[in-house]
Amino acid sequence: MGDGITPAHHGPDGRFRNPWPDSEPRGFRDVLRWTLERRKQEHVPSPAYGSQATALPAFVHPRGEAGTCTATWVGHSTILIQLGALNIITDPVFSERAFPVQWMGPRRLMPPAVDIGALPPLDVVLLSHSHYDHLDKPAVKRLAREHPQATWVVPLGLGAYVRAWGVRNIHELDWWQSATVKGLKVTGTLARHFSARRAGDRNRTLWCGYAFEAEGKRGYFVGDTAYHPEFGAVSAACGPFDLVMMPVGAYDPRWFMHVVHVDPDEAVQAFTDLVARHPKAPLPLMLAIHWGTFRLTDEPMDEPPRRAATAWVQRGYDASRLWVARFGETRAW
Ligand code: ZN
Ligand code: ZN
Repeated sequence: MGDGITPAHHGPDGRFRNPWPDSEPRGFRDVLRWTLERRKQEHVPSPAYGSQATALPAFVHPRGEAGTCTATWVGHSTILIQLGALNIITDPVFSERAFPVQWMGPRRLMPPAVDIGALPPLDVVLLSHSHYDHLDKPAVKRLAREHPQATWVVPLGLGAYVRAWGVRNIHELDWWQSATVKGLKVTGTLARHFSARRAGDRNRTLWCGYAFEAEGKRGYFVGDTAYHPEFGAVSAACGPFDLVMMPVGAYDPRWFMHVVHVDPDEAVQAFTDLVARHPKAPLPLMLAIHWGTFRLTDEPMDEPPRRAATAWVQRGYDASRLWVARFGETRAW
């Protein structure tokens, strides 16, 4: 716990840290072990590029009408949200590879379902952390140029990155800090994860999710996170939610990944923690994200939504409230 002045997730060395036990991602030795294990394993073949189910996006140009709210899954953690007349995008990633150089690193298995040039005028960009599958420098530069009016909400320390790439309007938030941007109330939410972009910068910038609210609707973009005991607190402070965008993929092998990403069972447990705080509220729609787009980890690419659906049914939830979107699919919420 903190000393009462410094929050527990602010380390004494200027780096951020997770305030829960067993939250430090493994070091180089374990990365090596994973690499060697992977080499020995019979690899589940990836689906062919572009072979997964798609839908025609149905967002509105240039803006939606008051009182209507939709979400469009562009792929991975990139979601275009139209909340009344506001256009919001989360973790805009449009590059071919989620890596500093385009000739190595995890390759895309599905193209972005919306072309970066086809986006409506963006008002708010929500950025969760510095990992390459969430923070895409070429996309940031292009959006900064083509959507100069957009305000970017980023966790502590990440403002300097996007500013250097041309973004002008930036709010940096700590966990539990809020800002009102163009009528949208946004709160940075805690997550059990880490950040790294290049050698030596591990945990120098914070990682987070976002709760947001406008038009009488509340959404929660969970970001990247392992399971932690604070989902109920997020719900109590910022809920009840109408839409929860929950990561379900990138979890195997568990011995390595359990400190950084929820598996589908934990994702549904986290959702359960959220709704437990508001038992009388209607069941939120849960959009399953962070799967199917880049091969990051060992589980079969189509396993996350199947396992999420099984866990969902086991909990007795209405099957229509779990949204396993096709790439590009738009749904009202
Ligand atoms: Zn991450
Ligand atoms: Zn990620």
